[in-house]
Amino acid sequence: MDDRQFRNAMGKFATGVTVIVTEVEGEPHGMTANAFMSVSLSPKLVVVSIGENAKILNKIKESQKFTVNILASDQQTVSMIFAGQLKEHDGVAFDRLGGQPVVPGAIVQVSCEVSAEHVEGDHTFFIGKVTDLQLNEDSEPLIFYCGRYRFLSEETPIA
Ligand code: FAD
Repeated sequence: MDDRQFRNAMGKFATGVTVIVTEVEGEPHGMTANAFMSVSLSPKLVVVSIGENAKILNKIKESQKFTVNILASDQQTVSMIFAGQLKEHDGVAFDRLGGQPVVPGAIVQVSCEVSAEHVEGDHTFFIGKVTDLQLNEDSEPLIFYCGRYRFLSEETPIA
């Protein structure tokens, strides 16, 4: 099986889009990620998976903290900025949650402390112990499917 076939197959799993943010010496650094999952209710744990070449990897190792920001449907530009797909922009301002930088306008902002890390292949899983969260019930999520951004449409009623 080649890499393209694997990527195409995994891309059939529709996900939301998050921006993971950490801060080192007062400098926030963000990265777009869809490898995010809720892990445990008691204690409250989440996991993110970060590629070995991502600059944010060593920053999270250093700070031992990160936030997960689930993007809203009108935040495709934000996703593109933090995926390095949009180089020309006016900068990004951050809000704060429990002292940590979060993305304004995200549907959900979750602040975490790293409770464990596991290297698997070319990615590192960071398990985050949730320290705080903020939820905006009124927004719809941005969706990523087959390598493209998508939007939820109204459910088709069952006949
Ligand atoms: P950098 O190149 O350091 O940063 C990425 C971009 O964010 C740069 O353009 C940088 O200028 C900008 N940026 C960072 N901080 C700030 C700031 N404070 N203010 C303004 N701009 C800033 N990769 C994974 O490892 N795991 C995943 O789960 C994952 N999922 C993805 C899902 C989607 C939908 C997409 C599009 C990409 C995904 N990626 C994932 C790829 C990842 O987002 C990119 O490879 C990313 O560019 C690598 O991050 P980095 O820390 O090396 O980035």
